[in-house]
Amino acid sequence: MKPSLLALTLAELQALLPRQPRFRAAQLWDWLHRSRVDDFAAMKNLPASLRQTLSDGFVVRELREAERLTATDRLTEKWLYFSGDAAIETALIREIRGRRRTLCVSCMCGCPVGCAFCATGQGGFTRPLTAAEIVEQVYRADRHCAETDGAGLSNVVFMGMGEPLLNYAAVVAAAGIVSSPDGLNLGNRQITVSTVGIPAGILRLAQEHPAYRLAFSLHAPTQALREQLIPLARQYPLTAVLPALEIFANATSRRLTIEYCLIAGVNDDLAQARQLNALLRNLPAQINLIPFNPIGGDARHWRPPAAAQVRAFQDALKFPATLRAEKGRDINAACGQLRARTVEKEELKN
Ligand code: SF4
Repeated sequence: MKPSLLALTLAELQALLPRQPRFRAAQLWDWLHRSRVDDFAAMKNLPASLRQTLSDGFVVRELREAERLTATDRLTEKWLYFSGDAAIETALIREIRGRRRTLCVSCMCGCPVGCAFCATGQGGFTRPLTAAEIVEQVYRADRHCAETDGAGLSNVVFMGMGEPLLNYAAVVAAAGIVSSPDGLNLGNRQITVSTVGIPAGILRLAQEHPAYRLAFSLHAPTQALREQLIPLARQYPLTAVLPALEIFANATSRRLTIEYCLIAGVNDDLAQARQLNALLRNLPAQINLIPFNPIGGDARHWRPPAAAQVRAFQDALKFPATLRAEKGRDINAACGQLRARTVEKEELKN
């Protein structure tokens, strides 16, 4: 498979073209990131011989769209792409009112973390994505938004398939390109990295990119329950993750987002809400409550709590807590569900 040029910096493009005048790399950069053309043939101000050399060795686009679904509310859309051996999901979530058009990008095909409540985690791990595969998810959705909504994406969250801090270099490279003035020109605050809690990655992000927003997927108020829901929590216990989060919080003036997936009878008891208050007492946190979105497989017996229980849990929290509106259930909007469904269909066919 030929590599893509989409995630190379201008300096890297210059290094790729040692015998060309320096402005050639800038021209190539403009075609890739300002004009965002689909192939080298469209790059009219490059010499024909260079266009040929580039197309012999590289590609501009790698992703092949396999499926696009639009929810009945028309606010949520989801794509399934293939890139070589990888199936990649991307979800676009629009606000009902307002201008937010957030893209939830994947940074891996599958995920090695294996969360028990997550279709991606239950579906296995293929490989981390390259920075170019991440950038292309963003550019494709941005173009789609510009065509359908008259304006491009406003936010990018690394919250799709995969753990971003286990693919740090690609995620940071992709975030740098899409937030650059020639990319989407997003502010750092419009980029969110959502992690299940990798202490070394959190500390590195605090040092190198403290302006990005950080979301931490907690999902349980105790280490013991967390280990049941998130197998990787055994390797990265809360005693190591929480101090790293404090350091990140001290490096920025913003609150951290704590993601908490509410599962009836598992982590939605009011005593657990009080444990959560105690656990997070040293963090400037806002909590995002996400009622469980049922998936197939082992977690089939789980269900979201009743609305009254969700409200009671929310009321028991001492932190600002928002309830994530349920969007796109009719198109399997939770991460990994479209991929799982498509893979299941393929298996039934064979
Ligand atoms: S919830 Fe996130 S970290 Fe956990 S398995 Fe799914 S994709 Fe991986």
